Amino acid sequence: MKKTFEHLLQFIIAFALVGLFFPSSGKSQNLQKDIKLGEQYSEYVETTIGVYENEELTAYIKAVGDKLTEQMDKPLFQYKYTILATPEPNAFSIPGGHLYITTGMFPFLESEDELACIMAHEIIHANNRHVIKSNRRGIIPGILQIPGAVIGAVVDETLGNALRSPFQRLGMLTHASYSRKQETEADIEGIEIAAKAGYEPKALQSILSRIGRYGEIITGEEEQKDRFATHPLTEDRLKKINKIEPKLLKGEPNHLADDFLVLFDGALAGNDPLKGIIEDTIYYNPKEGFKLQFPDGWESLFMANMIAAGDTTQLVRISFEEDERDPTEAAEDFLENLNPYFVASVLGSEPINIGEKRGHIIAFKQSIQGKTYYGSRTWVRQENLLFNFLAISNVEDQSQMENIVYSLAEMTAEDEQRIKVPTLRIVELENQETVTDLVQRTQSELSEEVIRLINEKPEGDSFDAGERVKLVIGENL
Ligand SMILES: [Zn+2]
Repeated sequence: MKKTFEHLLQFIIAFALVGLFFPSSGKSQNLQKDIKLGEQYSEYVETTIGVYENEELTAYIKAVGDKLTEQMDKPLFQYKYTILATPEPNAFSIPGGHLYITTGMFPFLESEDELACIMAHEIIHANNRHVIKSNRRGIIPGILQIPGAVIGAVVDETLGNALRSPFQRLGMLTHASYSRKQETEADIEGIEIAAKAGYEPKALQSILSRIGRYGEIITGEEEQKDRFATHPLTEDRLKKINKIEPKLLKGEPNHLADDFLVLFDGALAGNDPLKGIIEDTIYYNPKEGFKLQFPDGWESLFMANMIAAGDTTQLVRISFEEDERDPTEAAEDFLENLNPYFVASVLGSEPINIGEKRGHIIAFKQSIQGKTYYGSRTWVRQENLLFNFLAISNVEDQSQMENIVYSLAEMTAEDEQRIKVPTLRIVELENQETVTDLVQRTQSELSEEVIRLINEKPEGDSFDAGERVKLVIGENL
């Protein structure tokens, strides 16, 4: 059931190295503003996607970043490096010097040189303030208002937009495109600092091609020229790198990791299931210890602190956070701040009990352009968390929505057993083995095609005895 939504997210992976776009207030924008924006955005990105807290790897990535910025004449910011727990292979920067790399990127990296080259590319985007200069439409106001989305904000949009907009906005932050000129600049200046720091500049080509190829595999098609017109195609970028490479000033190779791959052995290689996972129709959150059930046939999508699910007629978005307010208090606060125009659409407001848990529901109904929408906001307290269910539907029967609210429960030990952590493993093979056999034997979470891609193994070739192979395995919590 989650496939379509996943596809929406994965659609953009092919262009994963693109970065984000940002609003502009023109030349008057000073560095302090960059830094301030960066703080707001980084908080949003980190709470929404979820940070992978791995001290060793974070320190290593920072050390590589420091090596790179040392080569710059004038780094504008104090760069900060964070790993995000998400399956999409991506690296991006946001203003003010926040650099992100995803756990989904780990299986694709073959060397410190590749890591350094993609990081250098992103450092240049940040340092040359590409997002600020790109003068595109702003998304900040929208993002900052998400938690306060009121009825009006919901019913004014189509059902789908109401549900998806937070995710789309996040997509703009993590994937939107720079101009061709800016990409070229980031490639060239990036490999300049990478080469000076002693890294192999051509490693940018190998990682770009691998990610590009992965995009083709998962979207099932070749890169199309017109689809992302502003994105310099991988081919173009590779050629430019070839041209500039011989002219680069190269520092003495001096890598930080003795054995790059081993450093990533055991690392998370996708979503952190501790922070949420969907199995069949049930969403589990082992970190907070709760679960929720959605109706059969619904699509669902989630991020660190938000879950969305729906079908063609009904949608629900659930957020949760530590909040000391009683559900009724939270509901009253909501009503108090409601736009007077929408007060008329409130059908009722009352406390409810969900088993032992306290809750409060506000129901509403509104007609817009001849169409009637039904909706509700429900607050439920479980332990220290306050849940907020935002439901919207164009059918009067709200029983499916209610079932979701009433399905909120604590996770059991049995539930925990079902959860698997996607883990990157570097395995030395005892015997020669075909890719097919390897995938079956290890219950690989990656397809044969992707295993071949990340291990640079051409079709038809087997792995030899003694060869090291990168795998992603679902391991127990
Ligand atoms: Zn870029």
